[in-house]
Amino acid sequence: MFDSLSAKFSDAFSALRKKGKIKSGDVDEIVEEIRTALVDSDVALDVAEKFADIIKDRALAELEQVNRGTNPSQAVFEIVNQELVTILGGSARRIRMAKKGPTVIMLTGLQGAGKTSLAGKLAFYLKSQGNTPLLVASDLQRPNAVTQLQQVGSDVGVPVFAPEPGNGVGNPIEVAKAGRKFAEDKFHNFVIVDTAGRLGVDSTLMEEAAAIRDAVTPDEILFVVDAMVGQDAVRTAEAFLQGVGFDAVVLTKLDGDARGGAALSIVTRTGRPIKFAATGEKPKDFDLFYPDRMASRILGLGDVQTLAEQAKAAFDPQVSQKLEEKFAAGDDFTLVDFLDQMQAIKKMGSMSKMLGMLPGMNSGAMKKQLDNFDESELVRTEAIVRSMTPQERVNVKILNGSRRARIAKGSGRSVSEVNTLVDRFVGAQKMMRQLRNGGGLPGMPGMKGMPAIPGMPGAGIGKPGGKGQQPPKKKSKSGNPAKRAASS
Ligand code: GDP
Repeated sequence: MFDSLSAKFSDAFSALRKKGKIKSGDVDEIVEEIRTALVDSDVALDVAEKFADIIKDRALAELEQVNRGTNPSQAVFEIVNQELVTILGGSARRIRMAKKGPTVIMLTGLQGAGKTSLAGKLAFYLKSQGNTPLLVASDLQRPNAVTQLQQVGSDVGVPVFAPEPGNGVGNPIEVAKAGRKFAEDKFHNFVIVDTAGRLGVDSTLMEEAAAIRDAVTPDEILFVVDAMVGQDAVRTAEAFLQGVGFDAVVLTKLDGDARGGAALSIVTRTGRPIKFAATGEKPKDFDLFYPDRMASRILGLGDVQTLAEQAKAAFDPQVSQKLEEKFAAGDDFTLVDFLDQMQAIKKMGSMSKMLGMLPGMNSGAMKKQLDNFDESELVRTEAIVRSMTPQERVNVKILNGSRRARIAKGSGRSVSEVNTLVDRFVGAQKMMRQLRNGGGLPGMPGMKGMPAIPGMPGAGIGKPGGKGQQPPKKKSKSGNPAKRAASS
């Protein structure tokens, strides 16, 4: 998502950074590049024009002040950042809660937008915050929508109210009403009503959705839209706004390679905020939509806040503390620790998604390496480690030739893969020692403090023998005799 937009912004700003003082002609130039980049990314023309005008007006009005600072191009960059946050809706918004009784959330949108999956994701999200949601199956049109919702509910451990079989049978308005009543009686504090979509906007769809709305008086109507469909998404949103009305937008499939036009146009065009974003098919691939984090990503600054939050949720604090203590005590990082870390990484989702949140990862060579990252390498690595005995995991040096052959057989890998893993791990242990002694990490700029472990960040993304897998370079000796004496 936003890859090409991000790359174009990055090119435009690297040209501006070379300028020193900024003249009004430079502003014209960068504004033109921004405008073209937005239009190329499928942002609605009027929205792109308006955005470019705002940047131009602000940059020109603040030009004197911009040039008085130590870093004029950075000041312009900051203006673009602020305006991107604004166009994406300003700040993150939470769900509007009912004053009394259950909070009713109604989901609308076209078929295939990701409504049913989203019902599960939202239920999972609310449940993980201590709520007691109920899912209501009011999509009685789409083949198997009811059974899909039941499956989704059972996957996330949330009950589903589904009195009708669907597939064209049953009255969705009555189901929605009865679902709300059921939630009240059973003290569910959230009701999520899944409604039918059609393949395109039509009057029957709108009338049905409006009737469900009137029957359950939702606290929030969420319009679910597939970000992959670009400007069409904006047109559909406008039609739904007129036909049914909605309070906020949910963007799905932000993990895809869409150009991002919908995300950047929809708030301006509908006047409604984006409240949530889905970034994959699993229940946890979902979060509040944070305009500032999205702007950060577009500008190549990554999304370290989300990464930190996900890491906090995935890493068991006891395991992390144990590791920290080991590290401080000077004990070696072992393959047992490595397995613990692998479990946490698995919980966080794919490695490339995680790495993609780091600053600078969204552009050029890094992006290419990320795209080539082989997720199954983690699975292969884990299989090898799991074929070792506990003693071997603690001390890989005891692995002789015949044990290595046995491990290779047990894990279905080749002996050379086992050897490579052991060699890399020994290298990583050395690096950890170096790190403990105050050195940085070779191979991964800006990732000080991140262990270089096979299959982990810093391990040479993509291809074997990558930069991160090199043994640490010897530190060059300082030319200053005092420093040299201090460091030895
Ligand atoms: P509905 O017709 O609106 O209920 O759509 P579904 O919930 O059935 O979703 C349609 C398809 O999109 C399914 O294959 C989902 O797994 C997939 N999908 C939904 N949300 C996402 C997402 O955020 N990312 C990706 N990659 N796929 C998604």
